[in-house]
Amino acid sequence: MDSKPVKTVVIVGGGHASLPVIKMGKRWKKHQIEIRLISAHPFLIYSGSLPQYMAGFYNWNQTAVNLEMLCKRYSVSFAVDRVISVNREQKNVETLSGEKIHYDVLLLNVGASTQPILDGDNISPVKPMPKLLELRKNLLNGEINRLLIAGGGAAGAEIALNLSHPALNNRPKITLADKNNRILSAFPEKLSADVNAILKDRGVAVLTGYKISDDDSKNYDQIILATGNRAESVSIDHDFEVGESSRILTKKNLLVKEEAYVFAAGDTADVNGKNYKQIGVHAVKQGVVLRHNIKAVLLKKSLRNYKPYRANPLIISNGPDSAFYIMNRLSLKGRAFAILKYMLDMRWLDKYTRIPENRRSLYQLFKEGLNRSE
Ligand SMILES: Cc1cc2nc3c(=O)[nH]c(=O)nc-3n(C[C@H](O)[C@H](O)[C@H](O)COP(=O)(O)OP(=O)(O)OC[C@H]3O[C@@H](n4cnc5c(N)ncnc54)[C@H](O)[C@@H]3O)c2cc1C
Repeated sequence: MDSKPVKTVVIVGGGHASLPVIKMGKRWKKHQIEIRLISAHPFLIYSGSLPQYMAGFYNWNQTAVNLEMLCKRYSVSFAVDRVISVNREQKNVETLSGEKIHYDVLLLNVGASTQPILDGDNISPVKPMPKLLELRKNLLNGEINRLLIAGGGAAGAEIALNLSHPALNNRPKITLADKNNRILSAFPEKLSADVNAILKDRGVAVLTGYKISDDDSKNYDQIILATGNRAESVSIDHDFEVGESSRILTKKNLLVKEEAYVFAAGDTADVNGKNYKQIGVHAVKQGVVLRHNIKAVLLKKSLRNYKPYRANPLIISNGPDSAFYIMNRLSLKGRAFAILKYMLDMRWLDKYTRIPENRRSLYQLFKEGLNRSE
């Protein structure tokens, strides 16, 4: 039996980047390393599934990871709580419920929250996601007539495409508004034109050069805010150096600057001052680096650097039967991409929601994707 003292890894936020580390819970016990997760919600919403979930094309199991079950499976202790401060001298975090939790290594992965440019009962920011989820029932029951989606970036446009899909019975009257002179302005013009044409054909009003104001909350039954996010770490009292958009500044190896035992990752971190886009692709890939580096720090081994993919292709769903595939200046549309997206989404979820024997094969996922796209 190893007589080394037990070291505690505290993960704050059960986000996309944290999941590969959680899966190490059992294996690391033999190195006398225990993992504790503190997360504000009992589940992780897989954002790639969210727009289709809102329209009823995906169910809950195709959208959420149950963090309690995941932690139990990998012998990680889990508490639903919110961290409100970090004390780097005493090496502890304080939670909203008043607990002080010691860490030997800390990972901050609390994601992002939508800039609160409007406030009110009928405003649902896309981040954090739980408030948006509450809308699903009302949308599917036809209880929302006039819906404004504020922000025509990838998130806003994908939600508009799904909620306006002809397969939906109770479609609200949707307006998609953006401050730029075209929706999806960060993407190829062809994509903007194609999405615009589909939405117009379905009766969605697309407003460009539009400035959201307080009047909008009176003119619409409901507003979904997809107008850009800030790091959620701004709601935590800490004195780490920050980079762009108040994201916690890290080195290439994801260690927070001037820190030997604190990591930050995902939307809340500004890695090496690069201010990478707040997309899950970075968070997911950083999770793999964290899995190595957290253990390496404790076992005094060498650390790896985070290297993003050369290009980050994006798939924007348009219901279960078609999707856009965007890579650099290329924008393609078709049923094949809807099938591909289904396969990628479910493969990722299976890793965290099913035991290895129950995970679906690629062939099975292809068949399921094909069937649902008919
Ligand atoms: C509609 C929509 C669609 C998207 N689609 C895509 C896509 O197709 N592809 C893509 O690459 N990206 C997509 N994104 C972006 C993607 O959602 C984010 O980049 C990704 O979620 C970031 O993961 P993360 O690990 O940083 O944190 P998240 O996965 O956001 O998780 C953060 C976690 O921290 C917890 N938390 C927050 N505050 C605290 C606190 N104080 N204490 C404890 N816990 C806390 C939260 O409960 C949450 O579980 C989409 C975003 C939206 C809004």
